Amino acid sequence: MIDLIAVEKRYGSSRALGPLDLSLEAGRRTALIGPSGCGKSTLLRLVIGLVRPTAGHVRIFGEEPAEADWPQLRRRIGYVIQEGGLFPHLTARANATLAARHLGWEEGRIAHRLTELAELARLPTTLLDRCPAELSGGQRQRVALLRALFLDPELLLLDEPLGALDPLIRADLQDDLAAIFERLDKTVLLVTHDLAEAAHLAEEIVLMEGGRVVQRGPLRELFEQPAEPFVERFVRAQRILDLGCPPELAP
Ligand code: ADP
Ligand code: MG
Repeated sequence: MIDLIAVEKRYGSSRALGPLDLSLEAGRRTALIGPSGCGKSTLLRLVIGLVRPTAGHVRIFGEEPAEADWPQLRRRIGYVIQEGGLFPHLTARANATLAARHLGWEEGRIAHRLTELAELARLPTTLLDRCPAELSGGQRQRVALLRALFLDPELLLLDEPLGALDPLIRADLQDDLAAIFERLDKTVLLVTHDLAEAAHLAEEIVLMEGGRVVQRGPLRELFEQPAEPFVERFVRAQRILDLGCPPELAP
């Protein structure tokens, strides 16, 4: 579904990412994790074509897109960023339905999809007429998710979608996201800096540092067979074990 081949992204003389190789199979949920500045957001931006690689190849849905292919391709990819990225002057409803309107969907179809997704994302429909500033952080992220899912994309990219939320709201949304992923059976690439969240939402973890992939595998493998001292340090710094790791995650 996604293949990054010897991909490198530089800004001037500084390297934001790579060179790295990473392939993601359709239908799998993968969490990208690593310290701030290690290139996680850059990787997502390369996948959705917001930035182009300085070197190497990005293949999406089995093809390396030409410049003109990206607008069409993006409709097959849902994207949620940390602050939601909603337009502040538009209501939740207008934000969520923008792409569908742009594509000329008829009103009935839009309304039906909106109701269906509001239920899925557990967003009360009474909130749809509010603008982002009139919603809580958690509600805003539900709207952003709804918008990302509207066109029924094959691939969902989530860049620290729960990063700005307080722990209780975050736990609620984690559970809801897990249920949504389970139900929709999408390919998911999720960025988080929280190992427990990564393990809760994804089948596989890709741990990055300094623009490269350090280790890839289920959480248990990161615990049991750290590829290098950095992995051990990273896992220990998260203090999952000290706080009482859930039994299914315990090494
Ligand atoms: P992460 O999401 O893991 O925190 P990013 O992908 O945002 O990291 O950034 C990776 C590195 O690339 C950082 O050092 C960042 O400063 C740099 N970087 C990202 N975007 C740009 C840009 N547009 N111009 C210059 N440097 C950038
Ligand atoms: Mg980032």
